[in-house]
Amino acid sequence: MNGLALPILDREKLPEGSSGVLPRHRTRKVMIGNVPVGGDAPVAVQSMCDTDTRDVLGTVKQIHEMEAAGCEIVRVAVPDTEAAHALAQIRPQIHIPLVADIHFDWRLALLAAEHGADKLRINPGNIGGQAKIAEVVACAKDRGLPIRVGVNQGSIEKDLLDKYGGNNPDSLVESALRNAEMIADLDFHDIVLSLKSSNPAEAIAAYRSVSQKCDYPLHLGVTEAGPVKTGSLKSAVALGTLLAEGIGDTIRVSLTGPKSEEMEACWGILQALGLRRRGPELVSCPSCGRIEIDLLSLVEEVQSTLRDIQSPLKVAVMGCVVNGPGEARDADWGIFGGKGVYLLTRKGEIVERFTDRDAAKRALTAALIDADAQIVRKSAVIAGIHSDTNIV
Ligand code: SF4
Repeated sequence: MNGLALPILDREKLPEGSSGVLPRHRTRKVMIGNVPVGGDAPVAVQSMCDTDTRDVLGTVKQIHEMEAAGCEIVRVAVPDTEAAHALAQIRPQIHIPLVADIHFDWRLALLAAEHGADKLRINPGNIGGQAKIAEVVACAKDRGLPIRVGVNQGSIEKDLLDKYGGNNPDSLVESALRNAEMIADLDFHDIVLSLKSSNPAEAIAAYRSVSQKCDYPLHLGVTEAGPVKTGSLKSAVALGTLLAEGIGDTIRVSLTGPKSEEMEACWGILQALGLRRRGPELVSCPSCGRIEIDLLSLVEEVQSTLRDIQSPLKVAVMGCVVNGPGEARDADWGIFGGKGVYLLTRKGEIVERFTDRDAAKRALTAALIDADAQIVRKSAVIAGIHSDTNIV
C-alpha cells in the first residue's frame, strides 16, 4: 500500500484553535520531485534507508514500508558507482522522491543525478574542491534537481572551530552558510540547508540563528539522537520547539530502531503542534483517584478499533464524567465512563447514554467506522477516484 493514500490534513484545514504555532518563516520553495519543500508547503516528512543501496530488492521493500508509514521523501546512501547505478532500478518502483546521499566523490553525484535521483545531498566541503562543486552544480541545474547542503558537528572547518572556540551553534551556522554560498555563487539557489547537532539545545540555537540569516528551506533534525524512546524525545523537543516558532520546512527524526518509528515520531510531532494530521488520534485521560472504570482496557480496545480507521479522526477516552464531555470538545468522538453510565459524545455534545460498557463501545466503533467511510469516500471524490457526490 502507498502510505500517502491515507487522508492527510494540513494546518489550514485543521479545526480552528488546534494550533498555537507561530507563522512560518518565509523560505523559498524548492521542488523535490513532486514534493514542494519551503514557502507555503506543508512540513514534509522524510527518512533514510538503512539498506545497502546496491540491494535493489531490499531497498525498494524498505521504501514501500516507509511510504506506508507516512514517509514523503526518502534518502539512500550512494557510496560507490554500483549504488549510483542501482538508483535507476529503484526510482521507477517507488512513489516518493529519492534523494542521493553523496560524500567525497563528486562523480557519484553526477552518476546519481543521471540515474534518477530527485535531489542530491552533499557537503561541499568534502566533495573535492571548487571545480568539482561547479561540475555537480552544473549537473543539478541541467536536470532541475535541488541540492541539500548538509553540515554537522563533525564537518565544521578548522578555521571556524578556531574562530568560535570549538564545535557550537555559531561555528555550525557559519559553516552551513559558507557551504551554501559556494553553491549560490554559481548562481544556483535551489538549496535546502541542514545543520545537525546531536544536542537538542544546540540544534535549536543553530536553526534559530540560521533562519534569521537566509531564506533557504530548512531540513530539521537531531543527529545521532539515539534509540527509539530517548531519540524521539530529543527530536520532539528540538523539532517541536523550532516548528512552534515557525522554523523548519522538512523534518527527519533519526533513530536507532525500526524505520516506522521515525515516521511515527515525525507525524506525532506535526500532529501535536496541529500542523498536519495523518490517521486517527487517540487522547485519553491519565486517570486519577476519581476513576470509576477499567480505563486501560477501554483505551486498548479503542486503540485496536483505530487500527482499521484511516481518517484523521480525533477520539477521546475519559475515565469519569466529572469534568464533562466539554473536556473533549475538540475530539470528533468520545467515550466517558462512570459508575453505571457511559456517555458517547460527538464534538463535546452527548449523543447517547449507556448503562452497559460493551454497548457503549460498540456504538463508538460503529460511529467511527461510519465517519471514516464518509471521509475516505469524500477524499476519493476530491481526488477524482470516485464519482459519488452523495456525501454528508
Ligand atoms: S477524566 Fe476523571 S478520571 Fe480521568 S483524570 Fe480527569 S478526573 Fe481523573
